[in-house]
Amino acid sequence: MIKITKGPKPDILNKKAAQWTVNVQAAIKAGEELSNSLKSKYNHAEVKAAIVAETHGKCAYCESKMRHVAPGDIEHVVPKSVDPKLWFDWSNLTLACANCNTNKGNREGFIDPHIDEPTDHFWFLGTVLFSKAESDRGMLTEAVLKLNRPELYDKRYDRLQSLERLLRLASKIDDPVLKQTLQQDFIENETKTECEYTAMSRAFVANAQAQGLLPQGQ
Ligand SMILES: [Zn+2]
Repeated sequence: MIKITKGPKPDILNKKAAQWTVNVQAAIKAGEELSNSLKSKYNHAEVKAAIVAETHGKCAYCESKMRHVAPGDIEHVVPKSVDPKLWFDWSNLTLACANCNTNKGNREGFIDPHIDEPTDHFWFLGTVLFSKAESDRGMLTEAVLKLNRPELYDKRYDRLQSLERLLRLASKIDDPVLKQTLQQDFIENETKTECEYTAMSRAFVANAQAQGLLPQGQ
């Protein structure tokens, strides 16, 4: 999980969110069943595009990219059932993979990468995500969302292997200037926010720097 900067609110929400919210609250108050049309207004194409842009198409929680096989779920950080006022609230919407979304269910109290700084709550050793000892919310988030599920281990291990191969290639260059350039490019390119599992990759780079395998400075 990495920090996500909220993008600009889509126009459709500026224009419609207040009325949609009134309609939802009125239906709930009247004990009426909400129509599928009303319930899913937050899935508007403008909203989805803005959410995908700000998350780079990655799950906000596990950093998996899913858009090549699934559209990804628009996720309510505070569940709709907990606070219907936030049903169409831009600050409450993000992108989640089906697994994290299902695991989270209607619960709340998790680390929110739009508000919290995930590095205050988690650290990586290899492919394993640990919650920091002082972070009960981090521990809850890891356990409930299953952020060390076997499928994630496998994908993160593939990513680590690819990083290790690139690091090894750069280390074999004899020319010191070219080597330094390649290593700096490696640090910059492989830790970008749009990459999968960036939190883990940044930990890998920091570890390699601490061991003198990569130059410091970024
Ligand atoms: Zn996920």
